[in-house]
Amino acid sequence: MKLLDGKVVSAKLKEDIKKEAAELTIKLGRKPHLVAILVGNDGGSETYVASKMRNCQEVGFESTNFHYESTISEEALLNKIQEINQDDQIDGLIVQLPLPKHIDPEKVTEAIDYRKDVDGFHPINLGRMQRNLPCFIPATPYGILLMLDHYQLDLAGKKAVVVGRSNIVGSPMSILLGRNSNPGNCTVTLTHSKTQNLKEEVLQGDIVIAAIGRKNFVTADMVKEGAIVVDVGINRETSTETKSGFKLFGDVDFEEVSKKVSYITPVPGGVGLMTIIGLLKNTLEAAKGSIYQK
Ligand code: NDP
Repeated sequence: MKLLDGKVVSAKLKEDIKKEAAELTIKLGRKPHLVAILVGNDGGSETYVASKMRNCQEVGFESTNFHYESTISEEALLNKIQEINQDDQIDGLIVQLPLPKHIDPEKVTEAIDYRKDVDGFHPINLGRMQRNLPCFIPATPYGILLMLDHYQLDLAGKKAVVVGRSNIVGSPMSILLGRNSNPGNCTVTLTHSKTQNLKEEVLQGDIVIAAIGRKNFVTADMVKEGAIVVDVGINRETSTETKSGFKLFGDVDFEEVSKKVSYITPVPGGVGLMTIIGLLKNTLEAAKGSIYQK
């Protein structure tokens, strides 16, 4: 078994991004600039946004975080998004999900200018992705593609099974793996909670992407010998063993599954780090204007 090591790959790609950011800063006369909007006080979301901001600084981007109380009205949030859309000193905008119940996430996603939508959630970016046109690819699937590409895993003609069909991970991942591109050209099965005989479906996978949100859901008996396993899950549990007071678990039973597969991502240290790279690369592209002209 070989580890698909997010620490190694993300460190290398971060160096590349840092170099490009420095060159672009000279050309533009300012740094690439990412804005994140955070609403409420969800511990996980606060950690993710802080990490995104920190990573921006590490590669030489400017980053701004607007943090609002969970009581902010939908209208006020949409107005802020419009203001950012019109600010030509800002290249990328992300709104951390989930949002409080009174705010419609679809309205928020569609309010973001698709040319600044570095999370790749806007329907224009998703539609262009499906058609294999230049676009912002959702950060997590993008990070996974970069990881697979780094290890030069030949997926063409292989069977891919994606478990979970969310708009941000499972669904775009299934489209990307099925596209006529590299990595891609897989024969894809997209599974979810209504899938019958899930175990038999997952056992078919030469590559399995697990994005369910349940600790150790994918067990060794569900995975084919020699498969490639990508674990997207981040399941937080409180723990007295760590300084932070919590511990992260994936959706895959790493200890058992790793004994029979050819490649596997760890949690932590796998897809989470690559998601950040996906976001940084999209922000760089937004600043360059290489996907959508400025
Ligand atoms: P969602 O909750 O949006 O989607 C979960 C998916 O899993 C749904 O499609 C659901 O099916 C499916 N599912 C749930 N239970 C079962 C089951 N028993 N059998 C088969 N399918 C099932 O989750 P996300 O995609 O947003 O996230 C998934 C995981 O990935 C989470 O742990 C999340 O924290 C993590 N994550 C990690 C990221 C990273 O950077 N590493 C980034 C984003 C997410 P149905 O549609 O039928 O309900």
